[in-house]
This record gives sequence, C-alpha cells and structure tokens, in this order.
Amino acid sequence: MTPPHPRSLHDLGFVEIEGELRAAGVSAHHAKVLWRALHHDGELDLTSREDFLPPLKRWIANAVGEGKTFFLDAPEVADESHSSDGLTRKFLLRLRDGHSIETVLMAYNGRHTACVSTQVGCAMGCVFCATGQMGFVRHLRPGEIIAQVLHLRRILRATRPESRLRNLVLMGMGEPLHNYDAVMQALDTISSVRGASIGPSKISISTVGVVPGILRMAAEARPYRLAVSLHGSTEAERSALVPVSNKWDLTELIAACRTYGTRTGKRIFIEWTLIAGSNDSAETAARLAGLLRGIDAHINLIPLNPTSGFAGTPSTAGHAFQRILQAAGFPCTFRQHRGIDVAAGCGQLRAARTHGRSTPPSSSAGHSERSSGVLKLA
Ligand code: SAH
Ligand code: SF4
Repeated sequence: MTPPHPRSLHDLGFVEIEGELRAAGVSAHHAKVLWRALHHDGELDLTSREDFLPPLKRWIANAVGEGKTFFLDAPEVADESHSSDGLTRKFLLRLRDGHSIETVLMAYNGRHTACVSTQVGCAMGCVFCATGQMGFVRHLRPGEIIAQVLHLRRILRATRPESRLRNLVLMGMGEPLHNYDAVMQALDTISSVRGASIGPSKISISTVGVVPGILRMAAEARPYRLAVSLHGSTEAERSALVPVSNKWDLTELIAACRTYGTRTGKRIFIEWTLIAGSNDSAETAARLAGLLRGIDAHINLIPLNPTSGFAGTPSTAGHAFQRILQAAGFPCTFRQHRGIDVAAGCGQLRAARTHGRSTPPSSSAGHSERSSGVLKLA
C-alpha cells in the first residue's frame, strides 16, 4: 500500500527516491544529486540549487513544498543552550505537529558526537530518567531522526568548518529498539557515503534491553554498535530501576547479549548508571562480573545525573566498583560528564509540547537555572 501523502522526502531511501523520479518521468540518475543535496549538504531550499538540471528542478517545483506531495523535515530550533565549558550544545527542536525533541552536540578531544532522540518521550519508565518520567508520546519517523543529524552538521559547518560530525549515539529521548524500523532506516541513510557518511562503527544504539530488537539486530547483522543499559545485577535490583525488566527479565536479557556477541563477533557495551545504595556495592560489581562472564563486554559507568522526579543520590563508590570489574578482566570506564549544567546529560532530556514559543529546555530539577555559566540563547 502506498503511504498517504504528503510525505517527508527525508523518509525516503535512495531506491524510493529513484522510483519516485522514474514514476514522474524523470531519469533516475538525478537521484544521486538530489540525495547529496538532502543528506550530505543538508539543503533546506531545494529550489535554490544551481547544480540541479532542468528535469530535476521541474520535479522539485511540482512535487516538493507545502501542500505538495513531499515536504522536507526541517525542525525549528525552539531553544538552544550551551554548557559553561562550551563543549556541549543542546537544541530543543520543534516538529511539524508541535511536539519537541532534544538533540545534543558534544565535543570530545576535538571530535564531535551527535546524541539524537528516537521518540517523543519514552514508554519504558526508568525511574531515574527524565524522558521516562514524561511518558510516551510518539515514535519519530526516519526523517525526523535524520533531520537532527543534518541540523547538527549545519551547525558544525557554520561554527567549526574544520570539524566533521563523525560519531552518533542514539542516547537522546526514547528507546531506539522500540522504534526499530524507523531507526534502522534512518541509520542506513545517515551512514550512506554520499550522505552524512557517519561510519556504522561510529554509530551506537543504546537500548534499555528490548530483547527482540537485540536478537533482530544480530539476525540482520546490523553493522552498528550496541550498548545495553543494564543497571541491575539481580531481577529485583534491576526491576526497581527499570520496570520493563518485568517484561524481558535479566536472565533473558543476558542470554540475548550472549547470542548477539556470538552471532556478530562484536563487543557489546554495558551501560551502568551508578546510584548510591541501589546498584553500586562491591557485591553488585562481583555479581555483574559473574553475569557477563564469557561475553566480550565493555562496561561504561555513568554518574547519575539529577532529574526532578527521582530522589536517588549519585554514587561515591564508582572507583571501587570499576576496580572489581577490571580485576575480573572487563574494560570498564567512566562516561565523561557532559552538559549537566544545561540538563543535556544522559537521562536529563525532556521536552514539553510547544506552540510557537520558546520553552525552557528542560524541567529537570531547575538544574540549568542554578548553574552560573550557562549561556542561554534567545
Ligand atoms: N533508551 C535508551 C537510550 C536513551 S537513555 C537506553 O535506555 O539505553 C541513554 C542512557 O542514559 C541510558 O544508558 C540510560 O540508562 C542513561 N540514563 C538515563 N537517565 C539517567 C540519569 N538520570 N543519569 C545518568 N544516566 C541516565
Ligand atoms: Fe527510556 Fe532510556 Fe530513559 Fe529508560 S533510560 S526511560 S529506556 S530513555
């Protein structure tokens, strides 16, 4: 069945674009130049392109624009904030239906990483996460995921023309494997060499542990990196923090990680948010090492970032926890603290529905207001 029009041109894969051109009597070889304009240049005004030949220009004039068959995903920047160290920039992007998402650009040692959202809100309800606290609103389309990367590429080109966007993490708002098809289509486009050309090995998908999605990634030999947010070493410890653990329990999840490792031969990244008195004890670290035995795993420890809806306290036992895992033979590192003063850290992303006005970037703990060095742009 043909999807209803109007559609986002950013939602179309390369072969679909070729098909649309051909169906309109335009030679499919124009698809390459159109693809490059859309996905490499991040062009938002296709009528201005001097490199388009007349048949393509005519197709654009007929088919693309408000009230026509296709539109472009060009989210509006409703708000922007920079961390005081200048290394993190967070954008509140307003979508066509008025909902908003957050997208973050981070600089690590001169390299830039995009952290993008895959849903408006999230259905998984992790107790320590601001996105989880806002609940699920809707999935993003592929074009809405791609448009975040294109936005950050335009920002980088304007402000740091010597830098390229080389890394992408799906760790913004939402659970990527709950929106599997849209995410995979978006990543195929984002990694295409004539597009944004972010290498598949530089793209990380972080999941709360959606077991069918993990197994599907393995079966389909998806080339991206997989990070699993574990946070608990027993069923009780985990389900107190991650309610979805009642659906896909720890035993099943660890088995899926093992299958993924065996089938793909890839290392798996384990994300562990450290919460004092909850999942940061030496016993927990030892149990975690036991659970992961035989899996090629790298453990990323994430310091808890404050959110307004969770009273948990950041752990001070992280280094002891790290040493136990390292002694058991696992690479184990701390995730760098980034963008906390603008509530752009892991789990702090939360956006309100906006209607034509700028909305504070986050309602997380009044955190940004308390910080001295935050630059808020109008
Ligand atoms: N839904 C996916 C990806 C988005 S969350 C997932 O859960 O993996 C990205 C990461 O931020 C996850 O590892 C999540 O556990 C972590 N996170 C969520 N809230 C956090 C908080 N308040 N402090 C630190 N990390 C948090
Ligand atoms: Fe959703 Fe990830 Fe937040 Fe859990 S941590 S609520 S899965 S975004």
